[in-house]
Amino acid sequence: LTQLFRPLDMLGMVYRTIRQGLIDMAEMFRLLDEPQEVSDRPGAPALVIRRPSVVFDNVVFGYEKDRQILHGLSFEVPAGRNYAIVGPSGAGKSTLARLLFRFYDPQGGRILIDGQDIKDVTQASLRAAIGIVPQDSVLFNDTIGYNIGYGRDDATQADIEEAARGAALMGLIDRLPQGFATEVGERGLKLSGGEKQRVAIARTLVKNPPILLLDEATSALDTRTEQDILATLHRVAEHRTSLSIAHRLSTIADADSILVLQEGRLAESGTHGQLLRAGGLYAEMWARQASETDELGEAAE
Ligand code: ADP
Ligand code: MG
Repeated sequence: LTQLFRPLDMLGMVYRTIRQGLIDMAEMFRLLDEPQEVSDRPGAPALVIRRPSVVFDNVVFGYEKDRQILHGLSFEVPAGRNYAIVGPSGAGKSTLARLLFRFYDPQGGRILIDGQDIKDVTQASLRAAIGIVPQDSVLFNDTIGYNIGYGRDDATQADIEEAARGAALMGLIDRLPQGFATEVGERGLKLSGGEKQRVAIARTLVKNPPILLLDEATSALDTRTEQDILATLHRVAEHRTSLSIAHRLSTIADADSILVLQEGRLAESGTHGQLLRAGGLYAEMWARQASETDELGEAAE
């Protein structure tokens, strides 16, 4: 029977690898030696961050020649602000995140971090400046300590412990038979979705980036776990510039500003209150999600 299940196991692994390739971009580019779409300009300097603002300036992008996805997208996230990006599925939210991490270059316009075009600086310095927490985080078949420290090459045990505290992981680690040395992942201790997201947050804390990019970081979790993780993420984002792509609008209602993306364009932006009063796409999405939640509530009764 084990013989029979092994190939299925393998298939599961391949499937997860492919799926996470779309979601957990940072990891995948290190795991697989994927051909890079972009390269450093000869002699490119490192990104220098004093005040980590993020600017999209008339960005035009498509994955394929004949299909444009972002049609001249412009917005600015001032340094230290926590912005959210929402919009219907397929609007281009994850695409925008991939461009900021420079997996692709725009065909038109510019992306600036702290006034520097990300095309003109080294990719290593760009990616060191941005911490990503994806929807589904990959754990390596290694110790939980390794999985946290992976965020930075020279992480010390003290760094790892501090990050674990910041991500509210110490309760779990104290209960583990071998603490930080406990093996996790496919072949070790299986962590829950929420615990895996905490590991991803700890990994980001070890990296200590000035900019945070959360792509539906809590959308795969149940509502209660989501609330727990959100509280941690809010703390982590507090002194950084952050962009949170969110599916459930209730999770980003307190953002400094919400950018509403529709078909590769900025449809509207503002605070939750402003957008509700404006009565546009956001207000419509909010009303729809509220009624869905009500229906769920009624169904449960
Ligand atoms: P969102 O995150 O808002 O749901 P995406 O940015 O993932 O949307 O996708 C925007 C559009 O780009 C969609 O039409 C999607 O099908 C397309 N797209 C996404 N990734 C790729 C890709 N790797 N190759 C070609 N098209 C893609
Ligand atoms: Mg997406």
